[in-house]
Amino acid sequence: MQYPHPEVTKFLASQPLKMFINGEWTAAVSGDTFETRDPGDGKVIAKVAAGDKRDVDRAVAAARDAFRKSDWATMPANDRAVIIHRLADLVDKHTEILAQIESMDVGKPLAQPMNGDVPNVAQTLRYYADLSVHTRRREPIAVSGFDARTVRSPYGVCGFVFPWNFPILLVGWGISPALAAGNTVVIKPAEDTPLSTLYFCKLAEEAGIPKGVINVVTGLGETAGAALSQHPGINRMSFTGSPEVGRLIAESCGRNLVPVKLELGGKGAAVLFDDIDIDATAKALAGAITLNSGQVCCTATRWIVHERILDKLANRAAEVLSGIQIGHGSDATTGMGPVVSEKQRQRVLGYLEKGEREGARSLLRGGAANVKGHEEGYYVKPALLTGSPDNVCAREEIFGPVAYVMPFRDEAEAIELVNRSSYGLANSVWSQNLDRANRVAERLVAGNSWINAHNLFPHGVAYAGCNLSGMGGGVLGPDTLMDYLRPQSIVRPLG
Ligand code: NAP
Ligand code: MG
Repeated sequence: MQYPHPEVTKFLASQPLKMFINGEWTAAVSGDTFETRDPGDGKVIAKVAAGDKRDVDRAVAAARDAFRKSDWATMPANDRAVIIHRLADLVDKHTEILAQIESMDVGKPLAQPMNGDVPNVAQTLRYYADLSVHTRRREPIAVSGFDARTVRSPYGVCGFVFPWNFPILLVGWGISPALAAGNTVVIKPAEDTPLSTLYFCKLAEEAGIPKGVINVVTGLGETAGAALSQHPGINRMSFTGSPEVGRLIAESCGRNLVPVKLELGGKGAAVLFDDIDIDATAKALAGAITLNSGQVCCTATRWIVHERILDKLANRAAEVLSGIQIGHGSDATTGMGPVVSEKQRQRVLGYLEKGEREGARSLLRGGAANVKGHEEGYYVKPALLTGSPDNVCAREEIFGPVAYVMPFRDEAEAIELVNRSSYGLANSVWSQNLDRANRVAERLVAGNSWINAHNLFPHGVAYAGCNLSGMGGGVLGPDTLMDYLRPQSIVRPLG
């Protein structure tokens, strides 16, 4: 594979990169720009238009117009599905390009977006396009004395604010159901990782998505993101990111009475019973905390291990983690890339220090990592800590390749340890005894419980969080399509 692909070089050559509003590539009204960097060596990859409230106003106006005047909202679902399938095919055709852009901007090992994130976007587009074709928009209701039915129509303009850890994947998960339902969208990607979302718009144009149906305002959270979530012209809002910003978004939407979905952080646990295959489980969990350098909302960051196998499991995991090659995302031998920014690296290192000060012990010492030839990159080593469940590293989301290991003696204690968290996104249970695994899985308070695996996202299974991890229905399930269809009752008295 050629790296960088000539198309990637061409895409990055036209700087500053413009945003996509009403089918046009446009600079910010202010003319301002911001920089996005390659976390693997700290270099600026591109200058990008820094949108503010005025650009959000333009984008929302374009999306409102497209909703009313283009035939996107009113065309039969199967005609819309044909266009969405065309977009999915173009995503597949441009996998290499999108994956390179994503790897450069986020720091991910190239194989991950190549084999995971980008193909998944195409699958998600197809899943919701097909589901929408088979979803009834009109359903009769049997009530005596009335002719009644429910009709489902798209809402209008849907706003989306996304984080930097899975930029293109989350665009796919987020907007596919909204589009398939016939809504129009305005996206604010994360300032650290705007590039793949912009390239995706090129493909949307080529696929024949009408002007104004997909709009992207690049820019900073406090300006562009805040303006979008406060905009009275949006009909629905979806936010993926931290609970702190989620609260602000929910407050803004509350004031405007705009329904909002929040997909927030997590502090996922893996409960390991003493009948597991220690080697295979250690490898799986080492993979879980190094996936995307640990910057995964739902990953297994608390390992709750039966006391009989804790030492063996932790030693084996430490061995596996020590063998993972840390490097630049474009290097084929890289097992784990950098974290996304220097700010993120300092956050991870700060947690390790604070955890230690509060009494945590390192089973595998983490810290900053140096990669030869990429000395300016934002690399950290994987770390395993152990100690009290009250330690800051056992409670708060670190968002780096760090796991906190804790022993348990019986099922009740394991469940209690998992459920102490104020988050509620995803946990896993590992045991050969499937009765026990299923029983415990149901007792864990979170949107998702996985059995003998961690990080599972099949299309058709809802992925959502509760408590601090989110509200409003989640993503990936069939109900997510319904979230973007406004129900309306039509009633007539009989006789
Ligand atoms: P973040 O700081 O909350 O930022 C997320 C997005 O919100 C970014 O686009 C950000 O813009 C924007 N933003 C910041 N301040 C804003 C404001 N006042 N108003 C409107 N928008 C604003 O989160 P992050 O650090 O990018 O991402 C990590 C978090 O996302 C973690 O907590 C992780 O667990 C969570 N996450 C959850 C899921 C899920 O499905 N549950 C998936 C992925 C990630 P800037 O980029 O300019 O700051
Ligand atoms: Mg970047």
